[in-house]
Amino acid sequence: MPASSKTAIRQDWTRDEVLAMFNQPFNDLLFQAQVVHRQYFDPNEVQLSTLLSIKTGACPEDCKYCPQSSRYDTGLEKEKLMAVEQVIKEARAAKATGATRFCMGAAWRSPKDKDLPYVAEMVREVKSLGMETCMTLGMLKEGQAQMLADAGLDYYNHNLDTSPEYYGEIITTRTYEDRLDTLGNVRKAGMKVCAGGIVGMGEGEKDRAGLLMQLANLPQQPESVPINMLVKVAGTPLEQQEDLDPFEFIRTIAVARIMMPKSHVRLSAGREEMNDQMQALAFMAGANSIFYCEKLLTTPNPKANKDMELLERLGIKPESYRVDRDSEEEEEVLHQAMAEAETGHLFYNAAK
Ligand code: SF4
Repeated sequence: MPASSKTAIRQDWTRDEVLAMFNQPFNDLLFQAQVVHRQYFDPNEVQLSTLLSIKTGACPEDCKYCPQSSRYDTGLEKEKLMAVEQVIKEARAAKATGATRFCMGAAWRSPKDKDLPYVAEMVREVKSLGMETCMTLGMLKEGQAQMLADAGLDYYNHNLDTSPEYYGEIITTRTYEDRLDTLGNVRKAGMKVCAGGIVGMGEGEKDRAGLLMQLANLPQQPESVPINMLVKVAGTPLEQQEDLDPFEFIRTIAVARIMMPKSHVRLSAGREEMNDQMQALAFMAGANSIFYCEKLLTTPNPKANKDMELLERLGIKPESYRVDRDSEEEEEVLHQAMAEAETGHLFYNAAK
């Protein structure tokens, strides 16, 4: 499609406009999201990422949704920083099942300078496998961001979580401004930004609109926008939170797609509790990235082969790693892994 006929990227969204989008009839919203989605992406491709927790639990922050906070008794087993060799082993396994991006998460307020050489080594090693790399380690100072960028880190994830107005209800140990500063440092270091939020935490529609406005109106929109549905973990303050209407979740995805047409919108945490129909609706609304692994940091994620079955039934293909694919050999390895997975009945052919 010629660039001139594509929906322009806007960074001046107002709350009234965004709320009007949320409140239009469901079918109109989904149609609009599909139109925008098709201008920038193949609608039948989904990017697959795998997420590994490289340091689990004992986080000093008080995010009310999080089982990794040391303030809540969730029965989570704490783990120290994982050895580099173990991370590489996990990355190889993820690549063999078709993941093109490997995300590594550590439950830290911010990384200590003494930890950075280890995580930088993880980045270098995972990159050398021919995968995109992403990390989420908490708040980053300018020098730390630069060190990760120098190691070859492609994406840094740091979520805004919710609107600035509702934020204080969820986290008190770091400010919204702290989060924006980290995103600024990531950009300054030349890395891609992965930033999104969580819905279903008791916020109103105006807060979901406020979150999306913050993301879309950043000086440069995030390349990756995870939209999470709250996973109500026993022992966290949000354990008893009332369910959000599932259509409101789909609306949030659709509005994110329209406001950030070039970004990958990721269907993230909470997928385990969504049935196939709900996930299909999310893809229709413009979600085009999923976490594909058995565990999403510490909450369960649908099993990898169940994901493949669903994608196959919907005629959706995994997006290949387009950026910096530097050798045909790597591509061959990936195709071979996918072929092996197919003969191993990882795929389900609904047409049979
Ligand atoms: S969300 Fe991150 S910063 Fe907040 S408690 Fe959990 S691990 Fe810590």
